[in-house]
Amino acid sequence: MLYDELKHERWNWNEPHVADEATLARVHTKKYLRDFLGARVTDQTMQAEVPIDSRIVEAVRVATQGTILAAELALKYGVASNLSGGFHHSFADHAEGFCFLNDTVIAIRALRVAKPGLKVAVIDLDVHQGNGTAYLLKDDENAYTLSMHEKDNYPVKQQSSHDVDLASHLGDAEYLKILDDNLRIMRDVFEPDLIFYIAGVDVYKDDALGGLELSVQGIAERDRRVKNFMPGVPVVTLPAGGYARNIADTVKLHAQTIRIFHGKQ
Ligand SMILES: [Zn+2]
Repeated sequence: MLYDELKHERWNWNEPHVADEATLARVHTKKYLRDFLGARVTDQTMQAEVPIDSRIVEAVRVATQGTILAAELALKYGVASNLSGGFHHSFADHAEGFCFLNDTVIAIRALRVAKPGLKVAVIDLDVHQGNGTAYLLKDDENAYTLSMHEKDNYPVKQQSSHDVDLASHLGDAEYLKILDDNLRIMRDVFEPDLIFYIAGVDVYKDDALGGLELSVQGIAERDRRVKNFMPGVPVVTLPAGGYARNIADTVKLHAQTIRIFHGKQ
């Protein structure tokens, strides 16, 4: 649906292939990959809480390669967006919360094959904490994870480099003020070569799984602030969550993020 929304506009489209097993194995355990790639229902794959079959496995692998491709393109051109990805609840040895593979960390490890010291920031503004990403990167001194999320919501929290717990029912003005303050904190301590922006739109006021109350304009402003706070640093945008009661709202919000980052809105 996001592709249908954007396909009539002028974009440089790039199509990813299926991520190969060796690429996934830089992050995930052999046993978990055996289960996932074989589309097996096990305790570890079931924690995704969504069905698994060979088509879903293939879609997730393509989405993951899309994040790697977007990261490579961002380093080359300054910005690139994947139409899928941002599976921030996935851990090395199990799935969680709709996320089978941690595409962001897989992409970081893939890039570092050629660029070993690459410094990456993950700015996660999905309404849910980026627990899998935080856990996977916790000992990585060349990575900084910032997660701003609703406190009283899924998942069981892990420790990011910097966590910001938000009260439920927060609206645009308060949210944007907190965002500004915390982007500044990050900028003072970490200078990334590349930013992954986990741009979940489940902060929207009419989201079924989120308890914040941001408007369409508030989310646009959120995205602009992330875009503008570190000029010159390449950015990859990933959609992550979005469960608006009207699915068309979710599609429009994800498209809005992409248009903003590419200077079209
Ligand atoms: Zn979410």
